[in-house]
Amino acid sequence: ADALDAAACTTWVREFARLVHEQRDALTQLDAAIGDADHGSNLDRGLTAAVSALDAASPASPAAVLAMVATTLIRTVGGASGPLYGTFFLRAAGALDGGDRAALAAALRAGLDGVASRGKAAPGDKTMLDALSPACDALDEALAQGRPLDEALRAAAEAAARGRDATVPMVARKGRASYLGERSAGHQDPGATSAALLVEAAATALAG
Ligand code: ADP
Ligand code: MG
Ligand code: MG
Repeated sequence: ADALDAAACTTWVREFARLVHEQRDALTQLDAAIGDADHGSNLDRGLTAAVSALDAASPASPAAVLAMVATTLIRTVGGASGPLYGTFFLRAAGALDGGDRAALAAALRAGLDGVASRGKAAPGDKTMLDALSPACDALDEALAQGRPLDEALRAAAEAAARGRDATVPMVARKGRASYLGERSAGHQDPGATSAALLVEAAATALAG
């Protein structure tokens, strides 16, 4: 049940792609309020391409799956979120060693740290980090308590959703939304919303 193999990682990416496709218009509406109305279409295009690339190549290792997703996102998604999600998957791939539950937590943490350093952002800046960071903390805490992986991932997904909701009153300090200053408050961040889908997809796909 703890095996984080290439098939499990592919299932995770497919589920993320499915959720983003389903929520594409909602993500774009959120970006219309405080950005340039392309977050849903950006990510849907990138993840559709990533799934096609995985279908065509069937990478053999979990790290190769995540690295292929990263390079596809960087190549196909213009805008801030392509390089940032690309960095997330590339760093996660680099840390994904061993294929057990500890490796998964380490990979998510490495992805989070990569997004933070690439985007020069921190939690509280009203970005995808506001969903990813509490998710990593909740996952680490649940695993440290010895809870089973499916419960730990469920706790991570719930923490990501709360983090997403908590972006509503925040004033954006990074990305396009920051150009609005105080007027960015009162709107949910699109990137935090898609990042919550990423963690939700992990809970669905990797619970094994
Ligand atoms: P763009 O703003 O270039 O159109 P997207 O609309 O696809 O790109 O993505 C916007 C999202 O990217 C934001 O909602 C925010 O969560 C995230 N984002 C923007 N800049 C940063 C950053 N420096 N660090 C982390 N996340 C960021
Ligand atoms: Mg945008
Ligand atoms: Mg854009």
